[in-house]
Amino acid sequence: MKAQEYTIKLLKIEHLDKEYYSFDFSKPEGFEFVEGQFGVFTHVNKVMEGKPFRAFSIASTNEEPFLKIATKITSSPSEFKQRLLNLALGEEVILRAPMGDFKYDETQKAVFIAGGIGITPIRSIILSMKRLNENRLDTLIYSELESTYPFSSELESTKKLEVFYSADIEPTQKLITDTINIYQNKALYYLSGSPGFVKGITELLKVHGILETKIIYDVFVGY
Ligand SMILES: Cc1cc2nc3c(=O)[nH]c(=O)nc-3n(C[C@H](O)[C@H](O)[C@H](O)COP(=O)(O)OP(=O)(O)OC[C@H]3O[C@@H](n4cnc5c(N)ncnc54)[C@H](O)[C@@H]3O)c2cc1C
Repeated sequence: MKAQEYTIKLLKIEHLDKEYYSFDFSKPEGFEFVEGQFGVFTHVNKVMEGKPFRAFSIASTNEEPFLKIATKITSSPSEFKQRLLNLALGEEVILRAPMGDFKYDETQKAVFIAGGIGITPIRSIILSMKRLNENRLDTLIYSELESTYPFSSELESTKKLEVFYSADIEPTQKLITDTINIYQNKALYYLSGSPGFVKGITELLKVHGILETKIIYDVFVGY
């Protein structure tokens, strides 16, 4: 589906844990995307410091009746995020979507590696797998330095996934090298997170012989 512009309305804000928040918006009629894609969200009629738009991965699936995004909002947020948090229910934002190539290849074993909020497109892909006719077990390595793992119970409820958590860099690297030792280049490695996270994990994968063609990236430029 080609990216188009839509006006959507806020349905719900949820404080997930610590600095993590999710936002559900109305889904435009007929809107379809491939799980893993993102959109650009723009505040309407608001003058603000910096850009009035940000890219966010769509964390919901096509089956869910809303569009979910999730983000980290610190105690001194950008004006964009402050205004996101201050949106009233029913208030409108502009969405340009869908975009991006972070898409699941159901023909190959998947190793998902999420850095913190990088879990958003992976939630979308993994929850959509419920409807895929797949017998294979995929792997998720979920790394979060503050030991909080948004969406973990939903992810664990899917039967076709083994989930490993890590709250530090070294254990994350160990989980990844253990996984490489098992699957090597017989899996696709899906990396999602900040540019620093994705760069570091890419180097680790390559040092251990994983081919560039076996790595799929979703880089959250801006973090
Ligand atoms: C394809 C794609 C998908 C993405 N998906 C997601 C997603 O699902 N969830 C998500 O959270 N992000 C996602 N991002 C990143 C997102 O677009 C933002 O760039 C990111 O959330 C940071 O936004 P911000 O408003 O907090 O920081 P920005 O205002 O963009 O600032 C960038 C940096 O400056 C710092 N900064 C900002 N304001 C201040 C201030 N007042 N004082 C001091 N420092 C400041 C911030 O800490 C940040 O490190 C995605 C990006 C891309 C390209």
